Amino acid sequence: MSEVLFVAAGFTTQLNKRTKVDEHPLWGSECLLINVQNEIDTHREFLRCGVDVMITNTYQASIEGFKAHLGLNESESYNLMKKSVSHCREAIRIEKQLRTIDEDKRILIAGAVGSYGAYLADGSEYHGNFINECHPDDIEKWHRPRIQALVDGGVDILAFETIPALKEAEILIKLLNEYPKTKAWISFSCKDEYHIAHGERFLEVAEKCWSLNSTQIIAIGVNCLAAEIATKLISQLGTCIPSITYPNCGKMWDAVNKVWVDQGESKMIEDYVEKWCEIGVKFIGGCCGTSIEARIRMKSIIDNFNKKIKKS
Ligand SMILES: [Zn+2]
Repeated sequence: MSEVLFVAAGFTTQLNKRTKVDEHPLWGSECLLINVQNEIDTHREFLRCGVDVMITNTYQASIEGFKAHLGLNESESYNLMKKSVSHCREAIRIEKQLRTIDEDKRILIAGAVGSYGAYLADGSEYHGNFINECHPDDIEKWHRPRIQALVDGGVDILAFETIPALKEAEILIKLLNEYPKTKAWISFSCKDEYHIAHGERFLEVAEKCWSLNSTQIIAIGVNCLAAEIATKLISQLGTCIPSITYPNCGKMWDAVNKVWVDQGESKMIEDYVEKWCEIGVKFIGGCCGTSIEARIRMKSIIDNFNKKIKKS
């Protein structure tokens, strides 16, 4: 069994505590330009929780989005996207200098590549209906420069996340193939314990993605959904496909009112972590709504598990 890595998911939840970003169409990525200090401080907060993998503040960022909402031109938008990676490095540098993390600790940087649906800023990443209406070439064209910028910025991993439909995952894998040295995980948004958000069966989708590129894909899984449902979904993968999960605090995003709605989840996210480790999940984190206190508890459970497997 290999070591479990703790992922700094749910970046905007933490950022939103410093700067109100929930109602902005770039959902926090505007801070890359207008509030860099808060962005770096948020990364530092994750580092102090002991994360092994950071995620850039680019979930809802795109060249088109920067042009429309920040008034930048094409190359300025590309450079801003790229800069998100250096902000992660800066946060690592500061925390290593402060000795809050070990000097020799290797921290991976994952470039957040949210769904095209997230760009629409109407909750489309949670149903994926755009995939029926948009031409695949347009979706590919929209993703390409943001991926290029993150790769050029030097990310270790591309985090394809909250992907609602197989067709969008296939477009992303096609783009991934263009960067053979880059690794990626694909994490889906799902509507129930068997189906991704757009309706395809999760297990079939995961098998299909894995068959398309098992060299560069390092994990397949689910994020931003209730932990209970996430557990049932990733359990289906067995140990043949390395998995990732970063559920949210059990709330559902109301795209009209731009608030999280309680779904009556009774257990805490950290109550599931041990089980995920035991079934072989490779990357674990907490998505939207996860508190810092919960993250610290999750990290400690992961550490205990990693110690246990090292001994055995
Ligand atoms: Zn989330």
